[in-house]
Amino acid sequence: MSSELFAALKTGRLIGSRCKNCGRTHFPPARRCARCGGEMQLEEIPKRGVVLTFSEVYVSSPAFTPPYVVAIAQFGDFKVPGMAADKVEIGDEVEWEVADRHGNLWYFFRTVKHY
Ligand SMILES: [Zn+2]
Repeated sequence: MSSELFAALKTGRLIGSRCKNCGRTHFPPARRCARCGGEMQLEEIPKRGVVLTFSEVYVSSPAFTPPYVVAIAQFGDFKVPGMAADKVEIGDEVEWEVADRHGNLWYFFRTVKHY
């Protein structure tokens, strides 16, 4: 179902899926629920979330330029792993954004600034 994720990114949206049977959420979207095997429906990921955990990466594949930050953030009912545009701390508020990276659309997290 990741083709649906890429289609959503093209229109500036981030989507996951939710089980019609038990309500479990999946990101990226899955066809079948990992918990009960139920049918899934697509759902937009809320724009604002909170960082649950993160890691700074200093050694990586050639596709990325270290150091960079990977994080898992909670957006509503969805736990979403992704790269962060800047340094984050656990509990930070972030928003996901869609951007072009090396010719491919992908999403990343940006810290919400409080002034
Ligand atoms: Zn389920």
